[in-house]
Amino acid sequence: MTPELAHDLKASVRTIPDYPKPGIMFRDITTLLGDPRAFRRAVDELVHPWAGSKIDKVAGIEARGFIIGGAIAHQVSSGFVPIRKKGKLPHACVSMSYALEYGTDIIEMHVDAIAPGERVILVDDLIATGGTAEGAIKLLRQTGAEVVAACFIIDLPDLGGAAKLRGMGVPVRTLMEFG
Ligand code: AMP
Repeated sequence: MTPELAHDLKASVRTIPDYPKPGIMFRDITTLLGDPRAFRRAVDELVHPWAGSKIDKVAGIEARGFIIGGAIAHQVSSGFVPIRKKGKLPHACVSMSYALEYGTDIIEMHVDAIAPGERVILVDDLIATGGTAEGAIKLLRQTGAEVVAACFIIDLPDLGGAAKLRGMGVPVRTLMEFG
């Protein structure tokens, strides 16, 4: 990625201070998604390392991971699998609890969404502590998936999430960092 493109992509993300609560700098990607060039370039850049390799499924984490993950799945000619909060999916599910800042929550995926041995890319808009993505990787691996990579538009490196996923043996691709 050229420095110019990296700069333009980062400039297309809007920051909302103190949302959803005081002290949080919310990185809002709706402005990137609303910019046709930025959206296309972000998707192209995220999947660049896997161009030409066989990807069976892209798994997107609710809800912004659906938008980016759907575009990536189209780009790599794979299927798309939604990973959702507990109770949202209609068919039988596998589930996994994951760490939140305070407490835990549960994510789910349809039990038949991924066959053993399928090659999967995990996608979300942002990685912070990595708790959500760690839960998603455990869920995918529980079904026998090979998690080829995890892709996020934004990394908050101070919170250590990307390092945590790499420690699990998953290559991580991100397009920008916010401190
Ligand atoms: P984590 O599990 O701590 O890595 O948190 C990642 C999830 O929380 C992603 O689905 C993000 O959309 C959301 N998230 C966490 N921090 C922020 C932030 N500062 N701005 C926007 N979204 C965030």
